[in-house]
Amino acid sequence: MSKVIISSLYDSPVFKMACRQFDQAADAISLPETLRDRTKYPRRCFAVSLPIQRDDGSVTVFEGYRVQHNLSTGPSKGGIRFHQKVTIGEVAALSMWMSWKCSLAGLPYGGAKGGVIVNPTQLSDFELERLARRYMQELIPFIGPDTDVPAPDMGTNEKMMGWMMDTYSNHVGHISPAIVTGKPIALGGSQGRREATGAGVAYLVKAYLADFKISIEQATVAIQGFGNVGSEAALALVEYGAKVIVISDYTVGISNAQGIDIRKALQYISTQRVLKDFEGGDEISNEELLELDCTVLIPAALDRVITPENAPKLRCRVLAEAANGPTTYRADKVLEKRGDIEVIPDVICNAGGVTVSYFEWLQNKQNYYWDKEEVMAKLFKILDKAKHAVEAQKSRFGFSRRLAAQTLGIQRVADAKESRGLFP
Ligand code: GLU
Repeated sequence: MSKVIISSLYDSPVFKMACRQFDQAADAISLPETLRDRTKYPRRCFAVSLPIQRDDGSVTVFEGYRVQHNLSTGPSKGGIRFHQKVTIGEVAALSMWMSWKCSLAGLPYGGAKGGVIVNPTQLSDFELERLARRYMQELIPFIGPDTDVPAPDMGTNEKMMGWMMDTYSNHVGHISPAIVTGKPIALGGSQGRREATGAGVAYLVKAYLADFKISIEQATVAIQGFGNVGSEAALALVEYGAKVIVISDYTVGISNAQGIDIRKALQYISTQRVLKDFEGGDEISNEELLELDCTVLIPAALDRVITPENAPKLRCRVLAEAANGPTTYRADKVLEKRGDIEVIPDVICNAGGVTVSYFEWLQNKQNYYWDKEEVMAKLFKILDKAKHAVEAQKSRFGFSRRLAAQTLGIQRVADAKESRGLFP
């Protein structure tokens, strides 16, 4: 039963998609009406304007957002996206998914997300620094290590987290590393955080392939998006013995049936910034990539790339959602009906990132640091546990894997809200 969206503030296709998923999950677990809208809608949001002096002396005002969806289960947690197509509705949808993701992984966090409308590739490093610092400066009254803890997302990286941490620390008058995660190691970042999201995706792909009795050595992989998540997933999958036959970024896709040399591609990106003209294979488009014959398809870039139009044409066995929200609600129905593609849904598939963010925050609070082996072992244990819970929920109620994962995440948030009661 789909419901009318009451929020005009967030109204957008991607927010509607997150709400439809929620409604379906709430129906599936018969969530009481009194808890539904409380659990579904974001608790609060901030919109900030960010005047930045450009390198040529001019001033540009950027717009940024932070949506704190839920703080009932802990400080809210989630990345900050720098992208030209950011909208407050998208940020709100992403904040909802953060809530279900943290909850499913059993992390003591609520969900949040931030975004700035900017194409970061068009700004110099100095301009990006000013923007990152200004964004943090504007949010200082509303965030904190026990209130809301940002992290990197699309278009942001550990360098920016370092600037944000420095801005916050200067404000409070002492070093406060737990204000953001995904920082450089020198500033209290965790071993393994940079790799965590991609490594988690690869680990789950390996574990699920074993369940489906598909040999990873025989598996071919197509990855859309070659940022931090896509490239780390590629490296880890190659390490496990899989063959990555296509990679892409927003400029081009590169296909090579013999397997792409991932390290060479990374080297190329480090000087050229984009994959365009990389000579490690033949050029294909991002649309062609999605419809390619492969064992595992990994969308690791934008949301809503698997649509009702291309869903009937997918030719993968496994769809591993490294991106947040890559499959639209209607495309999901097409895949469910087809029944021949195993979906590893985003809220579990990419949960490795926020899980190691949690470890980073813990280490910061304790001032006691772990080695990478310990981080990875603890990460895989949490992912195993979440996977086990999802599979149990799936077979117990006959849900799709996405519905199983989302109902588990939503239920815990709703339980916390019910237990806390309504403030008079
Ligand atoms: N941006 C990442 C995500 O979507 C990581 C969030 C975090 O580490 O807090 O899960």
